[in-house]
Amino acid sequence: MSARKPATIAVRTGIESDSQHHAVVPPIYLSTNYGFPAFGDVPQYDYTRSGNPNRGLLETALYELESGKGAVVTNCGTSALNLWVSAFLSPDDLIVAPHDCYGGTYRLFNTRAQKGDFKVLFVDQSDQQALDAALAQKPKLILIETPSNPLVRVIDIAKLCNQAKQVGALVAVDNTFLTPVFQKPLDLGADFVIHSTTKFINGHSDVIGGVVITKSEQHAEDLAWWGNCIGATGTPFDSYMTLRGIRTLQARMRVHEESANTILQYLQSQPLVGQLYHPSLPEHPGHEIAKKQQSGFGSMLSFEFGGSYEQLKHFVGELKLFSLAESLGGVESLICHPASMTHRAMGEEALEEAGVSHQLLRLSVGLEDAQDLIEDLNQAFDKANGLAK
Ligand SMILES: *Cc1c(COP(=O)(O)O)cnc(C)c1O
Repeated sequence: MSARKPATIAVRTGIESDSQHHAVVPPIYLSTNYGFPAFGDVPQYDYTRSGNPNRGLLETALYELESGKGAVVTNCGTSALNLWVSAFLSPDDLIVAPHDCYGGTYRLFNTRAQKGDFKVLFVDQSDQQALDAALAQKPKLILIETPSNPLVRVIDIAKLCNQAKQVGALVAVDNTFLTPVFQKPLDLGADFVIHSTTKFINGHSDVIGGVVITKSEQHAEDLAWWGNCIGATGTPFDSYMTLRGIRTLQARMRVHEESANTILQYLQSQPLVGQLYHPSLPEHPGHEIAKKQQSGFGSMLSFEFGGSYEQLKHFVGELKLFSLAESLGGVESLICHPASMTHRAMGEEALEEAGVSHQLLRLSVGLEDAQDLIEDLNQAFDKANGLAK
């Protein structure tokens, strides 16, 4: 039989694996500890922090979907990033991260670097000169986040991985926005893929989780050791829930993207919509790279609100089907004002440097009926317009 395709991996991992009762769906093993069959005979699972059946199945599904060799599931995306830097960086080592990365990633790397745990450079990775200068300092690790949050800027993964290899750096791609359904960083030369599984992977906004997926078995072993050492690993219940979410990942991603396209078309005709950001737009600077390295454009988009700040607040307040909330990638549609929400920890200067303005709004397009979503946007734009008159 040829290699199973992604939808089949997502649906079938662990199905019919229960040899005791033949449960079709694998049960949840909440037990914290597992018996040794005999003195000195170490079982596959002995203590849940180091491993358990539910986490094991989720790890298998995730690394198979990303075409990796191993994975460590963590208790959140932030702890996945923290595990990665903990495992590979010493105080003299440098990590290069995007200047417009996820706000929590920025805070984590910045705070730990200030404590002297490692060195960090936040760089505009689309600026070749700035990138070359950073690479000349021989970083040990490079983090790529593409498309980036919240401006969906696109970085050429294969190109940057090539450059990284020349200076001996290992590269991780935060693939939270696209999932393996639309982007496979390991196939493009990356050494690791990181996800906040809180987002599209679980997809139902009811589990916080993360994962580091590796291209090599050795790196997976290293990360599993560190995950157990610092206690970063995910729980059985969360792992069960996340695998349940993954069952429908392919189907969800298709509809997310379809609806995002419909909404993009609508937004383009709206007078209160300024600059629109989505990799599918031909004028988007990363459009050609996205076409080359992604198999879909994804459903995260943002735009500059064209009216006053008062109108912006009014618009957001009038929406009924877009909840004003952080996070993304769930079945429910969300709207976020990055400068006062997800990215507020960055401070004014860093926000400006990253190009995140106070007029910027980010949409996570959910799985409600797309026409209902458009009607909702329309009535909120009308009310914001009325305010100006
Ligand atoms: C949410 C997010 C994270 C952090 O994940 P948590 O699960 O919230 O800890 C990291 N990177 C990206 C791109 C995210 O969207």
